[in-house]
Amino acid sequence: MGNNTRFDAHCHIFTLKYVVKEVKSLLHDILHRTYPWTEPPTPKTLMATKGRFTELKELLRQLYEMLHSALSSEEDNLIFLQEEAKKEFPNDNLRIIPLMMDVFYMLAYPLDKDEDVKKVKGLRATAVDEKEFQECWDEILDDFSRYIQTQKTTLKASKGVTDDGSVRLALKIIDEERSVKKTLKMKTTALKSSKAGSFYPTEGYCYHMDKLMDLVISHKGQLFPFVAIDPRRPGIVDTLLTGSFFQGDRRFYGVKLYPRMGYHPQCKTMDAVYKYCSDNQLPITYHCGKGGFPPNTDWKYTKYGNPLNFEPIIKQYPSLKIDFAHMGSTDPSYDWAKTVARLVKENDNVYTDLSCYTGTDELNPMKAFWGEGTKLKTRLMFGTDFDVMYYTDRVTMKIYYDNFKQVFDPDVLWAMMHDTPMSFLGLRE
Ligand SMILES: [Zn+2]
Repeated sequence: MGNNTRFDAHCHIFTLKYVVKEVKSLLHDILHRTYPWTEPPTPKTLMATKGRFTELKELLRQLYEMLHSALSSEEDNLIFLQEEAKKEFPNDNLRIIPLMMDVFYMLAYPLDKDEDVKKVKGLRATAVDEKEFQECWDEILDDFSRYIQTQKTTLKASKGVTDDGSVRLALKIIDEERSVKKTLKMKTTALKSSKAGSFYPTEGYCYHMDKLMDLVISHKGQLFPFVAIDPRRPGIVDTLLTGSFFQGDRRFYGVKLYPRMGYHPQCKTMDAVYKYCSDNQLPITYHCGKGGFPPNTDWKYTKYGNPLNFEPIIKQYPSLKIDFAHMGSTDPSYDWAKTVARLVKENDNVYTDLSCYTGTDELNPMKAFWGEGTKLKTRLMFGTDFDVMYYTDRVTMKIYYDNFKQVFDPDVLWAMMHDTPMSFLGLRE
């Protein structure tokens, strides 16, 4: 890594295409009656659900709100981020840590502390009728199209994407994802050939994973993606333990956890992940803000994101590198931020990042924490949280960077964008 390298240690370059594909897979599993709900719906309630799918319609709308400025390709998003950073730091090159997300199980049964992955009773796989699948999907997409066309306040965030253009792009994606044929085929093959070392594939998750891996090859050394692990995805933990995600040219560099999707950091299944990451010096970025996705602080699984849930894990695996992302943001009491500051102080491998801080009024109070302990100075990273940051506030990249420049001295910002992420990733000059 050159001495003119800056990092965006927390961003997402996924696109609307990923989301639409993933929701299509979700619908498939609902119709297939294998989706692991908290309470498996009886055939009767399933029939009542048919034709409504409110959760899925809502999910698409929310994800669109989060992503509508990143409608072009993953590669476009990477280049956009690099170009915007170049305007701010003309002598430096931007490298990014794009974090995957796994939203597939957010409607599924939650996994509490000490609980193991469950076999949900009452699920009975039923052949999915293509015609029925298509009808239901059409209904969801029609609803989504109507929604998009009523939203006129899109952002010109991605290069060349105008308000009208972004609506057009979204409609084009809907068009391309209209047919259920491919999902149906993929599912049938996947269900038949689930072998050891492979995980349950859903269309969006696999699509995004492939796109990231393609970019790791075509933009060598420019991105360090983290793989999203949700222990409820069958086979994903076992696959991680084979090491295949972290070997070869197409590889990940760390793990992204989002307990807010409904799993407690101390659920039984995750212990093997922590041990593996600790043994193999793989960093973990863990969503640690009271807000996030879905967008309410009172979301039913918000509490799983409490950094205290990670304290026993840190004690057990002291050499495990953990980034408490967002440093406990969206919390007027700063309780979570205080915990993170304390964990940084008391431990050697705890990091944190200020991603999704869209105003100086949010950054300034964090600088007070910075002043408290010198150690935090070597543990705090810069991140944009692109494209999610637009969700919170309609800021441009320029405003986002300007805020950081205003609040932090150049040498401090350099440490946040270079020294600390290098150490987090285990890279040498
Ligand atoms: Zn994020």
